[in-house]
Amino acid sequence: MNYIGSPVLDSFFSVPRFGIAIYYQVERKYQKLKMNTEITQTKICKKCGRILPVEEFSLERGQFHNPYYRGECKKCEYKRHRKYLEEKNKIRLSDHLELHIQRRYKEIKPERILDISNLNIIPLGTDEIFVKLMDYKDAWLSNYGRVIRYTYGKYNLLQGGCDNNGALRYSLKKNVFFDGRWSYKRVPLYAARAVVEEFIVNPDKENNIYIWHSGYDKEDYYYKNLYPLNQEQYRMIKNHFRKTGDDSEELIVKVMNEIKYKPDNWSKKAMNLVMCGIGYRGSENVDCRAESYIKWHDMMNRCYNEKFHERQPQYKGCTVCEEWQNYSNFKVWYEQNKNNGMSWDLDKDILFKGNKVYSSETCCFVPHAINTLFLSKKAGRGDCPIGVYYDKEREKYRANMSFMGRNIKLGSFDTIESAFARYKEYKEDFIQDIAEQYKDKISDKVYEAMVKWEIEIDD
Ligand SMILES: [Zn+2]
Repeated sequence: MNYIGSPVLDSFFSVPRFGIAIYYQVERKYQKLKMNTEITQTKICKKCGRILPVEEFSLERGQFHNPYYRGECKKCEYKRHRKYLEEKNKIRLSDHLELHIQRRYKEIKPERILDISNLNIIPLGTDEIFVKLMDYKDAWLSNYGRVIRYTYGKYNLLQGGCDNNGALRYSLKKNVFFDGRWSYKRVPLYAARAVVEEFIVNPDKENNIYIWHSGYDKEDYYYKNLYPLNQEQYRMIKNHFRKTGDDSEELIVKVMNEIKYKPDNWSKKAMNLVMCGIGYRGSENVDCRAESYIKWHDMMNRCYNEKFHERQPQYKGCTVCEEWQNYSNFKVWYEQNKNNGMSWDLDKDILFKGNKVYSSETCCFVPHAINTLFLSKKAGRGDCPIGVYYDKEREKYRANMSFMGRNIKLGSFDTIESAFARYKEYKEDFIQDIAEQYKDKISDKVYEAMVKWEIEIDD
């Protein structure tokens, strides 16, 4: 500490402890010492042994506010401080570092990828793909950080702009739940953050809010060059890179796995596979009675519990994406996406027909009534398609739709085909009607999917 900067201000805050009289006494002595430095007084540095003018030493205040000069000169002090920082910022890895967490990329649903072959847009690399942003109006993000928007019947590459820190961002309309209804709001979409969100498996969504760009090149938004890290991990990599120029993926993965750079509430126990041998909690203090935990628990059960599959075989083959196998990650999504305290169903069937993966891109929350519209129980249906059954007594095919425990009879027909056609027509209309009824209450992606829904004979 150097008090020469603002002795009055610094003293001011500590006055009451010593009383006014002592304060002035000490203050006079301090000012005198300060003046004296103008007449050359010298002092020997305890560290380097040089005899130097006293102004080469920091002026300090002791326990009783008494001023004194430090024993080592400012140069030695600075060197010691540098060394301390260097030691502190040196990456130290445990001897037997286990690599629980690996670098992974998200699986992208082919339905989300925009065909740009006829769009007169030249890809930045052979692997550049534009992927539909589920919560934004007609927008696609590439794994190079570029955005295409569809407006007035045309697909356009957006220019984007930089914020005060030089970070690239786009202005897009996002579908948000606000004031009790869903609507579109213009918001900035940060390229680096969005690329991480859509293309990279983030091992810790709650804490990894910093993004390391390979080579500290902040204009590089290529997904393979971006690493979501927590504050401590980011600091370590940045310091190490500045000193050595090394920021290899191997090193970053090691830092990601080093317990010293994990958040305080993390321990090895957080990685224990407590759910069906696949799911883990990701943090120590987890409330297993929380709504988000119960939903996570049920989802894991539906996908990976063989006992459950005996009763509900339609869930066989369903999976939970890598990011959500960590409960703490699921929780972050859950809190951001649940509808204002309403306990809705976690649905994986509406946004992508035939989808078997639970993930932030493929799932949505819907009222139970809507969820039941999309359940299809193939097992136990026999040879007839969905919505059709054979009436043995009358030797006719009946079309029938059930909704919330109610059976709606749609008539009997001579052929399977005509019975199914009736069911298909009725059910598609029915889904559209429900979509209109709930328009303000459900997100736009859910509404769009419902309006376009098609029943097929092999559903
Ligand atoms: Zn010295």
